[in-house]
Amino acid sequence: MFVEVHVERGRIRALLPCATGSVIRTETSTFEFPGCSLYPGFVDNHAHIMGLGEFLSNTRLDSSMSEQQAVQFLLADEPRDGWVRGRGWNHELWSDAQLPTRSSLDDAFPVVPVYTTRIDGHCAWVNSEALRRAGIDPKGHSGLLVDDDMLPVMNAIPAYSDETIQAFILRAATLCSEHGITEVHDMDVSEAAARITRELAESGKLPIRVQSFVRGQNGEWLEHGLLPAGGEFHRMAGVKLFADGALGSRGALLSAPYSDDIKNFGIEVVTVEHMLTQCNAALDAGWQAIAIHAIGDQAVTNVIDTYEALRKRDDAAEVILRIEHAQHVRPEDVERMLRLNIVACVQPTHCTSDAVMAEKRLGQQRLPWSYRWRSFIDAGVHIGAGSDFPIEDPSVLAGIDAFVRRIPRGMVAPWLDHECISQQEALFAFTEGAHMTSGMDYRRGKLAVGYDADFTIVDRDLLSCKPEEILETNILATFTAGVCRYSRHAT
Ligand SMILES: [Zn+2]
Repeated sequence: MFVEVHVERGRIRALLPCATGSVIRTETSTFEFPGCSLYPGFVDNHAHIMGLGEFLSNTRLDSSMSEQQAVQFLLADEPRDGWVRGRGWNHELWSDAQLPTRSSLDDAFPVVPVYTTRIDGHCAWVNSEALRRAGIDPKGHSGLLVDDDMLPVMNAIPAYSDETIQAFILRAATLCSEHGITEVHDMDVSEAAARITRELAESGKLPIRVQSFVRGQNGEWLEHGLLPAGGEFHRMAGVKLFADGALGSRGALLSAPYSDDIKNFGIEVVTVEHMLTQCNAALDAGWQAIAIHAIGDQAVTNVIDTYEALRKRDDAAEVILRIEHAQHVRPEDVERMLRLNIVACVQPTHCTSDAVMAEKRLGQQRLPWSYRWRSFIDAGVHIGAGSDFPIEDPSVLAGIDAFVRRIPRGMVAPWLDHECISQQEALFAFTEGAHMTSGMDYRRGKLAVGYDADFTIVDRDLLSCKPEEILETNILATFTAGVCRYSRHAT
């Protein structure tokens, strides 16, 4: 939409109609975007900032065309905290299609430990020093480790230093700004990441706002003395738990066995009792939001059972109760979510990435329970949206496209298109709707006087453009608290 916004002290002071585009006037400058639309800043309400920073910082080996070239790429980067790390090699793209060897890494890195992962993340290629640090004799070892065999070396890699964590957070936050994101709900946050995010926010270095959801599977937040706390750019917002695993690895907990593994129901990571104990402890300490990962339909039921018991507390009426992913939900549970005011925090690009796999795992009969955005909205269940980066791209536009068109990657037709939602609903889920899942919607997510001046400016009208144009949209600028944090054409 076209609008002229006046900003004072980081908040919207006035809104005026504008016929030709969007204009932002701050105390000191005027920014003009002719023909462009301005929206409340995009929010990613489920993502992993440290994970994205790490992903962006490890040496990329996906474009290597040979083992030697992969080694060259690794040599070109500096070790971080004493280790060289790479990701994404795929020997099937290499000229000889042979698996790499320990000796090529040893020749290039006789002293520094090297740890690299294959494109699928299920195989590691390491050098002798990495094996030695893990207590493994390198003599006769291929330097290749598969799945659980990777763990000893992964565990030998030291925890990141504060400087590295800081660099990761800033790198990820900068990329978020480039995608028009003004706020992220950061999931499974460690004590160090929470502390460093706060320091960056307080020193004015963070270009985005961050709501931290700290690890709470076993009361980790309590152990580290983390407590809810407010702030303009960083807030300790809630506690995060897991009820099950993921669908791809058949870790999602189902009420009936997997269609492609008929004795397997998935993994019950924790019991309802355990979740309730953890949630009660969080509420006792004053946390006002709980987020629990649940993908399979039985995990969703277990979380709803937990939340049903929790809502009985006198002080729990206003607490935000979130189900992260909520990918496969039985019809009766949609009703319960509405009744108990439980919000669904969904990732539309997971649907378009995983559709083919989900069909195999769940079978035709259960598919109508999957990624049911339209059913949630029609039933009155609130949804907020995210990307779960770095698993998916931190692109809100890709998320809106997936919500609206629901076309699986590499395909041309929508998948279960009765669950598509409108452009308006999709944009809402990534703005005001996302803020509702952290309790910040009272001052963010709307273009209204008094609201925070967080804006995303794009080169077309996302509400009225053709759906196939959504992915062609360009982010022109991102403003957080009235300050330009990203501009496509630096002014
Ligand atoms: Zn996640």
